[in-house]
Amino acid sequence: MTFVVAGASLAGLRAVESARRTGYRGRIVLIGAEDRLPYDRPPLSKAFLDVDGPGEVAPFHPEAVLRDELGVELMLGAAAESLDTAAREVTAGGTAIRYDALVIATGAAARRLPGARTLRTAEDAVAVRTALDHGARTVVIGAGFIGSEVASAARKRGLPVTIVEAQAVPLARAVGEEAGAALAELHLAAGTDLRLATEVTEVTEVTEVTGVGDGVRLATGEVLPADLVVAGIGAVPATGWLEGSGLALHERDRGVVCDATLAAGAPGVYAAGDVAHVPNPLFDGEPMRLEHWTNAAEQGAAAARHALDPASARALEPVPYFWSDWYGHRIQFVGTPRADEVVVRGATTLYRRGDRLAGALTVDRPREIMKYRRRIAARAPWSEALAFAGAA
Ligand SMILES: Cc1cc2nc3c(=O)[nH]c(=O)nc-3n(C[C@H](O)[C@H](O)[C@H](O)COP(=O)(O)OP(=O)(O)OC[C@H]3O[C@@H](n4cnc5c(N)ncnc54)[C@H](O)[C@@H]3O)c2cc1C
Repeated sequence: MTFVVAGASLAGLRAVESARRTGYRGRIVLIGAEDRLPYDRPPLSKAFLDVDGPGEVAPFHPEAVLRDELGVELMLGAAAESLDTAAREVTAGGTAIRYDALVIATGAAARRLPGARTLRTAEDAVAVRTALDHGARTVVIGAGFIGSEVASAARKRGLPVTIVEAQAVPLARAVGEEAGAALAELHLAAGTDLRLATEVTEVTEVTEVTGVGDGVRLATGEVLPADLVVAGIGAVPATGWLEGSGLALHERDRGVVCDATLAAGAPGVYAAGDVAHVPNPLFDGEPMRLEHWTNAAEQGAAAARHALDPASARALEPVPYFWSDWYGHRIQFVGTPRADEVVVRGATTLYRRGDRLAGALTVDRPREIMKYRRRIAARAPWSEALAFAGAA
């Protein structure tokens, strides 16, 4: 029996680990486009960018653990090129590999803007850090979480940084307008120049110091001088290799459309992590494609169990969770921001859907957020959550 995992990052690694934990003893092939062992992404925009951050991006496990302890055949630096669901074959690096069970965990790639860097891979992080080490004047395009963390890293070094955001309120889609406006204050308090409702028209020329754009031209005609320009404008599912496979890909972003058990619509094929659209029964079956660490880890493990033993497949109903660190503050979010009402109570924002608590955001309240997470999972009434927030 052969278990193939396409994508050697968090979801793919958790799939492999989970397969062995559940007692699977057959062959495992892990295919990864990057020429690196699986590594963790959240630190890339946090500790790694610090002056005294780690010098290298460390893998989750040394190669020996993957090969010898987990018994994984590694195909790194080899992108999966196509999938034939009838023949049950994945082609990667010119070789066809027959699978009995397959987990698709190819994640997402940063959306690009000509002339600007992105921050998605270890190589990206090294380039951004090198520019910061040279004292780069930084412009971040897009006030999302990763861009905000880059701005935070620059300010921590005392470097000038501007964030240009097209929307009037940052993060409106991720956390709603109320919380987005409150989070914008963290930038201002830290001395980041935040330009909202501002369009970028181009990133100009290349400098010698960092090899990136030397300025960002705005629709107003103003040019923001920069040695480092980072675009944090979202990510797109890495599914080019699945075009023509017959799997359903989402009409908007081409992510893999799954059911609530992560099944991708062909025998033995499941998907997990940033690449997957999955309906969540906890939120009226709302389809969700999450770009969150915990989701990728949990789905990766579940997808392997389900792929190797389809009879055991169960619908997942997770409470989405993510965190982000800016300027020494920990921002945490659970649930969904798509709500009928949003109530701000100091450092906590609560989201109501119907008569239930649907989401919660906190700043610097790590113990509280998990209590909200449990309430959302238990479908707790809104009135009870409000009372808890009042007493907390
Ligand atoms: C800088 C950064 C900071 C982050 N910080 C946070 C945070 O603070 N909190 C949080 O909750 N989440 C955070 N995230 C999100 C989190 O890291 C992702 O949700 C997680 O990495 C998703 O894992 P994944 O395995 O699904 O996909 P990815 O990590 O995207 O991995 C997919 C892998 O598949 C490979 N691949 C792509 N195409 C192919 C192919 N055809 N064949 C083979 N391999 C392929 C890719 O090269 C990649 O290695 C952050 C992400 C980034 C980039």
